[in-house]
Amino acid sequence: MPAAILPADRPDAIEAAADALRAGRLVAFPTETVYGLGADAGSDAAVAAIYAAKGRPSHNPLIVHLPDAQAAMRFGRFDARAQRLASAFWPGPLTLVVPRAEAVPLSPRATAGLPTVALRVPSHPVALALLLASGLPLAAPSANVSGRVSATTAQHVAETLGDKVAVILDGGPTQVGVESTIVGLAGERPVLLRPGGVPREAIEALIGPLDEPAAGIVAAPGMLASHYAPHCPVRLNVTAPRADEALLAFGPDVPAGAKLVLNLSASGNLEEAAANLYAHLRALDRADIAAIAVMPIPQHGLGHAINDRLRRAAAPRHE
Ligand code: AMP
Ligand code: MG
Repeated sequence: MPAAILPADRPDAIEAAADALRAGRLVAFPTETVYGLGADAGSDAAVAAIYAAKGRPSHNPLIVHLPDAQAAMRFGRFDARAQRLASAFWPGPLTLVVPRAEAVPLSPRATAGLPTVALRVPSHPVALALLLASGLPLAAPSANVSGRVSATTAQHVAETLGDKVAVILDGGPTQVGVESTIVGLAGERPVLLRPGGVPREAIEALIGPLDEPAAGIVAAPGMLASHYAPHCPVRLNVTAPRADEALLAFGPDVPAGAKLVLNLSASGNLEEAAANLYAHLRALDRADIAAIAVMPIPQHGLGHAINDRLRRAAAPRHE
């Protein structure tokens, strides 16, 4: 049965969703980054249902969401760097990978059996209300089929996962539009595991330079593979689109010639571009289009995250 889309501001919506979570079921909910597919991170069966619904490989660990930093600190060991980042950016679009605390009520499936755990305190009021009402740590990857474009509206979730979740909480379009920045703090030097909603520059200003993930070591599984992929092929850094292509534009100077055009930000604003990224990719992903051609995006601020997603959307596919 398709899930009910519940406006999150309806009386009892949060309680209904919290009840479903306590019963071990899946709930899609808005965060400030993208919509999450949430389940009780303490329940093996509930976490297994997330992997099954997304078709996600079981070696790709999940982010565990908590309502505040104090709650998060029960699940992991926070050194001075982690505490600094948590107090600067939580609640917000930052995930910290830290050594997992001992004897925490967390399904080993949520961390894919790793000795580390990925923790985040989201800032979206609906996400926070759900975390508080359920009283559960919530494992919540993006609410999309594994490898495909993330969901930034409740309708996006309903289109692909509607029959796999108990409730979809509708909080409108998400504001940030790209996933959280993930910083690895389990080793001596901090590592940027995934660029995201908190710009790299803001993190480096606080704790110094971030390393790239070591080559050959899959620190964040799935990071280098094809991901965020629409069905159409994606062509990057395009300045002259072809007549059978859809153009994903950026900035005021848009080349002519494409079959259709959507602009991430006509004024060249990277925050606006991030917020529009996934919805525009979905809208351009049409059967009558040969490829999605993407204009160059500047590599600073949220541009790091946007370019990371586009590179993986353009990578050779697994299928
Ligand atoms: P998603 O839930 O789809 O936003 O993806 C979460 C990302 O966090 C994935 O790329 C995971 O590999 C990464 N991640 C989660 N837990 C860990 C961990 N313990 N160590 C390294 N990366 C992690
Ligand atoms: Mg994802």
